[in-house]
Amino acid sequence: MESVSCPICVDSSNIPIFTKPSGRGEPFTLVRCAWCGLRFLDPRPDENEIVAYYEREYFTTRTDRGYDNYFSPPVRSEIERVIALNCADLHLDDLERAIPGERRSLDIGCAAGYFVNYMRDRGWRASGVDIARDCIDFAADRLSLDVAFGNYLDMSYPHRFHLITLWATIEHLHRPLDVLRKAHDDLADDGRLYLTTCRDDRWTFGRLKGAAWRYYNFPEHLFFFSRKTMIALLDRAGFAIERFLTYGSGFGAPSSPLRRIADSMAKRWAMGDMMLLSARKK
Ligand SMILES: [Zn+2]
Repeated sequence: MESVSCPICVDSSNIPIFTKPSGRGEPFTLVRCAWCGLRFLDPRPDENEIVAYYEREYFTTRTDRGYDNYFSPPVRSEIERVIALNCADLHLDDLERAIPGERRSLDIGCAAGYFVNYMRDRGWRASGVDIARDCIDFAADRLSLDVAFGNYLDMSYPHRFHLITLWATIEHLHRPLDVLRKAHDDLADDGRLYLTTCRDDRWTFGRLKGAAWRYYNFPEHLFFFSRKTMIALLDRAGFAIERFLTYGSGFGAPSSPLRRIADSMAKRWAMGDMMLLSARKK
């Protein structure tokens, strides 16, 4: 276990909020930065210890924290539906029109490569990177994608990218600021960063649920950003937000009428417990 300080404020102190067990019953404490309010786990498993939480079951066994067989066709098509929706909301077609010649994308935390595959189908030279070995094997062997196993911070690339994406990834990262700074270096000057993460904010459907919020999965999720703290972190890494939306409610069973109504209210009133944004270099 290691102790953690706010990546935005560095010298600030941490105020405990509550303690909640992991799937194995170990207690983890959520704290907030006294200065900026960013929420995160402190202490937390270090980068070597966390690997044990991402064994194969994380992607293949239905729990409230992992996926119900991530490799199955229904899960894949649901992920692809959300990907297409997110790209339309962020005006990916505008970005494509602005890039003459070869378009290059990189998906950090690409898992089984569904987004890499989506971009390749759109005509991009698409790459991905992930620390989950089973997922990378699936993406490389079954989908023949250009994906690399390992930590993004250890990677170097022969060219810069026009689009770098972090889909529901940044909340898992031990060093989110380092990753965003490297993404800034790896991004072309007129490129875009697309990012989604769970949104821990005052006026969201999630706040109504307190510690039972669907995204308080300790210790798989290490950071819980609000709109304000996300903007502050991006700013420190040299990015300015271009578009910002929220979506998702977590109310009712998936695809139930209650879920559909709550999701549509969440998106319209910006009360979603997920945020979706595009950013560019300042
Ligand atoms: Zn802070």
